[in-house]
Amino acid sequence: MSTLMQFKDVDVYYGPIQALKKVSLDVNTGEIVTLIGSNGAGKSTLLMSIFGQPRVSSGEIIYRGEDISKKSAHYVASNGLAQSPEGRRVFPGMSVEENLLMGTIPIGMKHAEEDMQKMFEIFPRLKERRNQRASTMSGGEQQMLAIARALMSRPKLLLLDEPSLGLAPIVVKQIFEVLKEVAASGMTIFLVEQNANHALKLADRGYVMVNGEIRMTGTGDELLVNPDVRDAYLGGH
Ligand code: ATP
Repeated sequence: MSTLMQFKDVDVYYGPIQALKKVSLDVNTGEIVTLIGSNGAGKSTLLMSIFGQPRVSSGEIIYRGEDISKKSAHYVASNGLAQSPEGRRVFPGMSVEENLLMGTIPIGMKHAEEDMQKMFEIFPRLKERRNQRASTMSGGEQQMLAIARALMSRPKLLLLDEPSLGLAPIVVKQIFEVLKEVAASGMTIFLVEQNANHALKLADRGYVMVNGEIRMTGTGDELLVNPDVRDAYLGGH
Protein backbone atom coordinates (compact mmCIF):
# COMPACT_ATOMS: atom_id res chain seq x y z
CA MET A 1 0.00 0.00 0.00
CA SER A 2 1.39 3.40 -0.90
CA THR A 3 1.22 6.45 1.32
CA LEU A 4 -0.92 9.18 -0.19
CA MET A 5 -0.72 11.79 2.56
CA GLN A 6 1.46 11.99 5.61
CA PHE A 7 1.70 14.45 8.49
CA LYS A 8 5.19 14.48 9.99
CA ASP A 9 5.62 16.16 13.39
CA VAL A 10 3.30 19.03 12.50
CA ASP A 11 3.02 22.00 14.88
CA VAL A 12 0.41 24.72 14.38
CA TYR A 13 -0.06 27.84 16.49
CA TYR A 14 -2.81 30.44 16.72
CA GLY A 15 -0.76 33.28 18.19
CA PRO A 16 0.58 31.92 21.48
CA ILE A 17 -1.77 28.92 21.52
CA GLN A 18 -0.47 25.65 20.14
CA ALA A 19 -3.36 23.92 18.37
CA LEU A 20 -1.41 20.96 16.87
CA LYS A 21 1.47 19.33 18.73
CA LYS A 22 3.91 17.14 16.79
CA VAL A 23 1.09 15.51 14.87
CA SER A 24 2.08 12.53 12.74
CA LEU A 25 -0.39 10.43 10.78
CA ASP A 26 -0.71 8.83 7.41
CA VAL A 27 -3.36 7.92 4.87
CA ASN A 28 -2.65 5.18 2.34
CA THR A 29 -4.19 4.98 -1.10
CA GLY A 30 -7.59 3.24 -0.98
CA GLU A 31 -8.01 3.57 2.78
CA ILE A 32 -10.66 5.25 4.88
CA VAL A 33 -8.92 6.90 7.81
CA THR A 34 -10.74 8.78 10.54
CA LEU A 35 -9.60 11.33 13.08
CA ILE A 36 -11.82 11.48 16.14
CA GLY A 37 -11.73 13.80 19.12
CA SER A 38 -13.97 16.07 21.12
CA ASN A 39 -14.81 19.75 20.64
CA GLY A 40 -11.73 21.91 20.26
CA ALA A 41 -9.28 18.98 20.02
CA GLY A 42 -7.79 20.43 16.82
CA LYS A 43 -9.46 18.32 14.15
CA SER A 44 -10.61 21.19 11.92
CA THR A 45 -7.27 22.91 12.37
CA LEU A 46 -5.52 19.81 11.04
CA LEU A 47 -7.77 19.68 7.97
CA MET A 48 -7.42 23.39 7.27
CA SER A 49 -3.64 23.21 7.59
CA ILE A 50 -3.61 20.96 4.51
CA PHE A 51 -4.76 24.03 2.56
CA GLY A 52 -2.27 26.31 4.29
CA GLN A 53 -4.69 28.13 6.57
CA PRO A 54 -3.37 28.11 9.23
CA ARG A 55 0.23 27.57 8.15
CA VAL A 56 2.24 24.89 9.93
CA SER A 57 5.09 26.35 11.96
CA SER A 58 7.17 23.18 11.83
CA GLY A 59 6.88 19.71 10.39
CA GLU A 60 5.77 18.58 6.95
CA ILE A 61 2.60 17.57 5.16
CA ILE A 62 3.66 15.18 2.44
CA TYR A 63 1.13 14.56 -0.30
CA ARG A 64 2.06 12.29 -3.21
CA GLY A 65 5.70 12.61 -2.25
CA GLU A 66 5.79 16.40 -2.04
CA ASP A 67 5.76 18.71 0.99
CA ILE A 68 2.63 20.84 0.46
CA SER A 69 2.75 22.66 3.78
CA LYS A 70 3.96 25.86 2.14
CA LYS A 71 1.91 25.65 -1.03
CA SER A 72 -1.20 27.71 -1.82
CA ALA A 73 -4.72 26.39 -1.30
CA HIS A 74 -5.20 26.66 -5.06
CA TYR A 75 -2.17 24.46 -5.73
CA VAL A 76 -3.40 21.85 -3.25
CA ALA A 77 -6.96 21.83 -4.62
CA SER A 78 -5.76 21.47 -8.19
CA ASN A 79 -3.68 18.44 -7.23
CA GLY A 80 -6.52 16.17 -6.28
CA LEU A 81 -7.41 17.14 -2.71
CA ALA A 82 -11.05 18.06 -2.19
CA GLN A 83 -12.73 19.01 1.02
CA SER A 84 -16.34 18.91 2.11
CA PRO A 85 -16.12 21.53 4.85
CA GLU A 86 -17.74 21.55 8.27
CA GLY A 87 -21.20 23.10 8.36
CA ARG A 88 -22.15 21.78 4.89
CA ARG A 89 -21.17 24.96 3.13
CA VAL A 90 -23.05 24.98 -0.14
CA PHE A 91 -23.80 28.01 -2.29
CA PRO A 92 -27.25 28.79 -0.88
CA GLY A 93 -28.59 30.83 -3.79
CA MET A 94 -27.54 28.30 -6.43
CA SER A 95 -29.39 25.22 -7.59
CA VAL A 96 -28.14 21.69 -6.95
CA GLU A 97 -26.80 21.49 -10.50
CA GLU A 98 -25.02 24.83 -10.23
CA ASN A 99 -23.44 23.78 -6.94
CA LEU A 100 -22.20 20.57 -8.54
CA LEU A 101 -20.71 22.51 -11.45
CA MET A 102 -18.82 24.71 -8.98
CA GLY A 103 -17.12 21.50 -7.84
CA THR A 104 -15.50 21.09 -11.26
CA ILE A 105 -13.51 24.32 -10.96
CA PRO A 106 -10.17 22.63 -10.14
CA ILE A 107 -10.38 20.31 -13.19
CA GLY A 108 -12.55 22.10 -15.74
CA MET A 109 -15.89 21.19 -17.31
CA LYS A 110 -14.75 18.30 -19.54
CA HIS A 111 -16.31 15.51 -17.45
CA ALA A 112 -19.05 17.63 -15.88
CA GLU A 113 -22.10 16.01 -17.47
CA GLU A 114 -20.85 12.44 -17.01
CA ASP A 115 -19.83 13.09 -13.40
CA MET A 116 -23.08 14.81 -12.56
CA GLN A 117 -24.97 11.71 -13.73
CA LYS A 118 -22.71 9.62 -11.50
CA MET A 119 -23.53 11.86 -8.53
CA PHE A 120 -27.24 11.47 -9.27
CA GLU A 121 -26.79 7.69 -9.12
CA ILE A 122 -25.03 7.84 -5.76
CA PHE A 123 -27.34 10.56 -4.40
CA PRO A 124 -30.80 10.02 -5.99
CA ARG A 125 -32.21 12.74 -3.73
CA LEU A 126 -30.05 15.29 -5.51
CA LYS A 127 -31.41 14.19 -8.87
CA GLU A 128 -34.98 14.81 -7.75
CA ARG A 129 -33.92 18.24 -6.60
CA ARG A 130 -31.50 19.20 -9.33
CA ASN A 131 -33.17 22.56 -10.00
CA GLN A 132 -33.92 23.42 -6.38
CA ARG A 133 -32.05 26.20 -4.58
CA ALA A 134 -29.60 24.74 -2.07
CA SER A 135 -30.83 27.04 0.72
CA THR A 136 -34.28 25.42 0.62
CA MET A 137 -32.99 21.87 1.07
CA SER A 138 -32.86 19.96 4.36
CA GLY A 139 -29.65 19.70 6.38
CA GLY A 140 -29.06 16.14 5.23
CA GLU A 141 -29.62 17.03 1.58
CA GLN A 142 -27.21 19.96 1.86
CA GLN A 143 -24.61 17.66 3.41
CA MET A 144 -25.03 15.22 0.52
CA LEU A 145 -24.66 18.12 -1.90
CA ALA A 146 -21.46 19.27 -0.17
CA ILE A 147 -19.98 15.77 -0.48
CA ALA A 148 -21.11 15.39 -4.11
CA ARG A 149 -19.65 18.79 -4.99
CA ALA A 150 -16.29 17.73 -3.55
CA LEU A 151 -16.44 14.51 -5.59
CA MET A 152 -17.06 16.51 -8.79
CA SER A 153 -13.39 17.52 -8.78
CA ARG A 154 -12.43 13.82 -9.14
CA PRO A 155 -10.27 13.95 -6.02
CA LYS A 156 -7.53 11.49 -5.22
CA LEU A 157 -8.21 12.15 -1.55
CA LEU A 158 -11.58 13.23 -0.18
CA LEU A 159 -11.42 15.19 3.07
CA LEU A 160 -14.59 15.34 5.15
CA ASP A 161 -15.07 17.62 8.15
CA GLU A 162 -17.82 16.32 10.45
CA PRO A 163 -20.43 15.29 7.89
CA SER A 164 -22.75 14.22 10.73
CA LEU A 165 -22.75 17.59 12.50
CA GLY A 166 -26.22 18.80 13.47
CA LEU A 167 -28.09 16.04 11.66
CA ALA A 168 -30.74 13.70 13.07
CA PRO A 169 -29.54 10.11 13.76
CA ILE A 170 -31.50 8.64 10.85
CA VAL A 171 -29.96 11.18 8.45
CA VAL A 172 -26.48 10.51 9.86
CA LYS A 173 -27.03 6.84 9.11
CA GLN A 174 -27.96 7.67 5.50
CA ILE A 175 -24.86 9.86 5.09
CA PHE A 176 -22.59 7.09 6.35
CA GLU A 177 -24.26 4.56 4.07
CA VAL A 178 -23.48 6.81 1.12
CA LEU A 179 -19.88 7.25 2.30
CA LYS A 180 -19.53 3.48 2.43
CA GLU A 181 -20.65 3.33 -1.19
CA VAL A 182 -18.20 6.08 -2.19
CA ALA A 183 -15.40 4.23 -0.40
CA ALA A 184 -16.33 0.97 -2.12
CA SER A 185 -15.74 2.69 -5.45
CA GLY A 186 -12.06 2.99 -4.45
CA MET A 187 -12.00 6.56 -3.14
CA THR A 188 -9.45 7.35 -0.44
CA ILE A 189 -11.17 9.17 2.42
CA PHE A 190 -9.90 11.11 5.42
CA LEU A 191 -12.80 11.74 7.76
CA VAL A 192 -12.79 14.04 10.77
CA GLU A 193 -15.63 13.26 13.16
CA GLN A 194 -17.00 13.73 16.65
CA ASN A 195 -19.42 10.89 15.95
CA ALA A 196 -16.86 8.22 16.84
CA ASN A 197 -19.25 5.32 16.60
CA HIS A 198 -20.17 5.79 12.95
CA ALA A 199 -16.70 6.97 11.97
CA LEU A 200 -14.87 4.00 13.48
CA LYS A 201 -17.34 1.51 12.01
CA LEU A 202 -16.69 2.94 8.56
CA ALA A 203 -12.93 3.45 8.81
CA ASP A 204 -10.10 1.02 8.17
CA ARG A 205 -7.95 2.92 10.68
CA GLY A 206 -8.41 5.72 13.15
CA TYR A 207 -6.51 8.28 15.20
CA VAL A 208 -7.68 9.82 18.46
CA MET A 209 -6.79 13.47 19.05
CA VAL A 210 -6.77 15.10 22.48
CA ASN A 211 -5.68 18.72 22.97
CA GLY A 212 -3.86 18.89 19.66
CA GLU A 213 -1.98 15.60 20.14
CA ILE A 214 -2.49 12.15 18.65
CA ARG A 215 -3.02 9.93 21.68
CA MET A 216 -4.04 6.64 20.15
CA THR A 217 -4.18 4.86 16.83
CA GLY A 218 -5.42 1.50 15.60
CA THR A 219 -7.82 -0.17 13.23
CA GLY A 220 -11.42 1.04 13.38
CA ASP A 221 -12.41 -2.22 15.07
CA GLU A 222 -9.62 -2.01 17.66
CA LEU A 223 -10.56 1.52 18.64
CA LEU A 224 -14.28 0.67 18.77
CA VAL A 225 -13.66 -1.89 21.51
CA ASN A 226 -10.91 0.03 23.31
CA PRO A 227 -12.18 0.83 26.86
CA ASP A 228 -10.61 4.34 26.91
CA VAL A 229 -12.17 5.21 23.57
CA ARG A 230 -15.51 3.80 24.70
CA ASP A 231 -15.44 5.84 27.91
CA ALA A 232 -14.43 9.09 26.26
CA TYR A 233 -16.23 9.00 22.91
CA LEU A 234 -18.80 6.23 22.83
CA GLY A 235 -20.79 6.85 25.99
CA GLY A 236 -19.11 4.23 28.18
CA HIS A 237 -19.27 0.43 27.99
P1 ATP B 1 -14.75 21.22 16.73
O1 ATP B 1 -15.15 19.81 16.57
O2 ATP B 1 -15.47 21.90 17.85
O3 ATP B 1 -14.72 22.01 15.46
P2 ATP B 1 -11.92 20.80 16.52
O4 ATP B 1 -11.37 19.55 17.06
O5 ATP B 1 -12.14 20.89 15.08
O6 ATP B 1 -13.25 21.15 17.28
P3 ATP B 1 -10.38 23.20 16.21
O7 ATP B 1 -11.50 23.99 15.64
O8 ATP B 1 -9.33 22.74 15.31
O9 ATP B 1 -10.94 21.95 17.02
O10 ATP B 1 -9.72 24.06 17.39
C1 ATP B 1 -8.55 23.66 18.08
C2 ATP B 1 -8.15 24.74 19.08
O11 ATP B 1 -7.67 25.90 18.37
C3 ATP B 1 -9.29 25.24 19.95
O12 ATP B 1 -8.76 25.49 21.24
C4 ATP B 1 -9.73 26.52 19.30
O13 ATP B 1 -10.27 27.42 20.25
C5 ATP B 1 -8.44 27.05 18.72
N1 ATP B 1 -8.68 27.83 17.50
C6 ATP B 1 -9.31 27.40 16.37
N2 ATP B 1 -9.33 28.37 15.44
C7 ATP B 1 -8.71 29.45 15.97
C8 ATP B 1 -8.40 30.76 15.50
N3 ATP B 1 -8.71 31.17 14.26
N4 ATP B 1 -7.76 31.61 16.35
C9 ATP B 1 -7.40 31.20 17.59
N5 ATP B 1 -7.65 29.98 18.10
C10 ATP B 1 -8.29 29.10 17.31
